[in-house]
Amino acid sequence: MANPSLLILAGDGIGPEVMAEVKKIIGWMGARRGVQFDVSEDLVGGAAYDAHGTPLTDATMARAQEVDAVLLGAVGGPKYDKLDFSVKPERGLLRLRKEMDLYSNLRPAQCFDALADFSSLKREVVAGLDIVIVRELTSGVYFGEPRGIFREGNERVGINTQRYTESEIARVAKSAFELARKRSNKVCSMEKANVMESGILWREVVQEVHDRDYPDVELSHMYADAGAMQLCRWPKQFDVIVTDNLFGDLLSDAAAMLTGSLGMLPSASLGAPMANGRPKALYEPVHGSAPDIAGQGKANPIACILSFAMALRYSFDLGAEATRVEKAVEKVLADGVRTADLMGPEGGTPVSTAQMGDAIVAA
Ligand code: ATP
Ligand code: MG
Repeated sequence: MANPSLLILAGDGIGPEVMAEVKKIIGWMGARRGVQFDVSEDLVGGAAYDAHGTPLTDATMARAQEVDAVLLGAVGGPKYDKLDFSVKPERGLLRLRKEMDLYSNLRPAQCFDALADFSSLKREVVAGLDIVIVRELTSGVYFGEPRGIFREGNERVGINTQRYTESEIARVAKSAFELARKRSNKVCSMEKANVMESGILWREVVQEVHDRDYPDVELSHMYADAGAMQLCRWPKQFDVIVTDNLFGDLLSDAAAMLTGSLGMLPSASLGAPMANGRPKALYEPVHGSAPDIAGQGKANPIACILSFAMALRYSFDLGAEATRVEKAVEKVLADGVRTADLMGPEGGTPVSTAQMGDAIVAA
């Protein structure tokens, strides 16, 4: 059988720096675990613009459609700020998301014990936290028509429309249930069915998909405002949360802050199942290209490394290998290894990007 295929798009700024540490882990897995990948690398964002005059070539796009998973670093930087909108680095990433039709955005909030004191909440509330928010990414109020600012009599009116079709809700619900089966088999769906028709439909369709195809998964429903409150009060009651584009935007940012630094947060964007039954997928750290620290060896590679761990679990069915990577991250943090972004007020000497990667490989 062919090796699983991975397309690496390191991109701009700290992207290549953090990706270099993932490549060390890939090398280690091949040498020590006998896990081989068919890795290809290409340019995206400003790097692609510099080489080809476009932030994503058609050839790269075609390759992204073919592989089992894409791992992306970051795009953009001040050098490209004055470019025409049509060739901005960010457009490369948007094209990938759009043409791969990545409608399901997974944002884990995972709290490593050694960093529990970084949270804005009490240690016992967040220590050991491990939840995933699944946000619908391609529809809802950010896309619905009509939209615009219109004149109505003597004043202007701003209009956006929350619109969800049954199939849009069903496919993201499926993606959440599939994810739950790889975790603790528990999904909480959030909407505002008390005041929104789209919320009523959301609740009905999620329940129908559950009853038809996923009766083994424990499903609950919650109003999104109550959900926001519960997320801050006792987040460990959740495992997978599935919600729409707008509520997911807010809830995933709130959940991220339960756990601390931007340098720690991975993400996945999933689309429809491919011929092998696994979803189209793009994995990337939540952080951007961090131009303020790029080229200095200061970036924390953990968000990118944990994004790769998500790829191992969700695209390659290598859950045990994913756990191995996560445990190594946990161990180096417990040992007190810290990049600059993870330094607390007590201070200390931070390690470099490469030293952090080496420590994780050693662990
Ligand atoms: P984007 O528009 O691409 O989201 P941004 O300007 O919103 O980018 P980032 O590029 O993520 O944000 O940077 C925000 C801040 O966080 C910066 O000060 C940056 O240095 C810091 N930062 C981001 N990622 C990391 C990382 N991996 N390690 C250390 N610091 C980071
Ligand atoms: Mg940003």
